[in-house]
Amino acid sequence: RAKSKGRDTYRFFNEEMNYEATEQLNIRVGLRKALELNQFQLFYQPQLEMTTGKIVGVEALIRWFHPELGMVSPASFIPVAEASGLIVPIGNWVLQEACREAARWRDSGMSNPVVAVNLSALQFARGNIEQAVSDAVASAGITPQMLELELTESIMLHNTESVLATVKRLKQKGFAFTIDDFGTGYSSLQYLKSFAVDKLKIDQSFVRDITEDEDDAAIVRAIVQVAKGLGLKTIAEGVETAEAMALLAQYRCDEVQGYYLGRPMPARQFMAYLQQYGECRKISVTS
Ligand code: C2E
Ligand code: MG
Ligand code: MG
Ligand code: MG
Repeated sequence: RAKSKGRDTYRFFNEEMNYEATEQLNIRVGLRKALELNQFQLFYQPQLEMTTGKIVGVEALIRWFHPELGMVSPASFIPVAEASGLIVPIGNWVLQEACREAARWRDSGMSNPVVAVNLSALQFARGNIEQAVSDAVASAGITPQMLELELTESIMLHNTESVLATVKRLKQKGFAFTIDDFGTGYSSLQYLKSFAVDKLKIDQSFVRDITEDEDDAAIVRAIVQVAKGLGLKTIAEGVETAEAMALLAQYRCDEVQGYYLGRPMPARQFMAYLQQYGECRKISVTS
């Protein structure tokens, strides 16, 4: 009896795994063709500078429109793209597309936000990221100053020396670097010294409950202070309320990004957003 129960459990477990594996396989097979079928699109989310109220930046976030699955979130396909190596060509497409869009904003004569692109570790390990980044700005006809690169702390965990050297060379060319999801990784403060990045993006897990949770508030305040001491800028992600924004202003966080200011949106819609709010997003911030 125990034996048959065990077998059932095993079979159940197996089917669960099969389901997961099938889904992974579907995503993997689909991803392979997604680039040539033009199924990717970039969405853009505004970043506001607190002291001026200007939209000084914008993060490019990839979306996959699958004919059957609909919109697939990057959280479910980026890990698959990374595991299969497909993140290299996909990442190159993201760089090209984001730079082309940045050229359009500039040419429209409106405010000219810096476009931030997320990078994966594999793009450093075997993507020739230096070439890809340089090609992207050159073919779009923008300057390196218009592009910002977001790295997570995990990228610096492996091949630290070679990533460091690459970041250094790209910085010399004028590209800016931000550490994404700051505070959730494994990096020590030592990294901040050696990596010479420009900005820390405070992870949304600390920002979400900032007005209720005193510990989160203390962490955010401390990160801003450390950044200031090192001459780095800070941006808070996941800002969803006016109250959170006011508190971040009080802590002297430099920039904010989140649903409160605007959700990630298609390029055309972001162009309209810029027209309306680019020079001054009139949101009352006390203090
Ligand atoms: P991330 O770079 O940390 O991006 C922030 C995520 O938070 C985005 O999710 C964004 O839509 C979401 N977000 C923004 N504001 C708010 C808010 O106020 N509240 C809440 N709850 N969420 C907010 P998204 O677009 O689903 O992207 C998820 C992750 O996928 C990104 O995290 C990034 O790590 C990765 N990703 C997205 N696009 C790319 C890409 O082109 N290349 C690579 N390598 N990774 C990408
Ligand atoms: Mg990011
Ligand atoms: Mg983030
Ligand atoms: Mg994240």
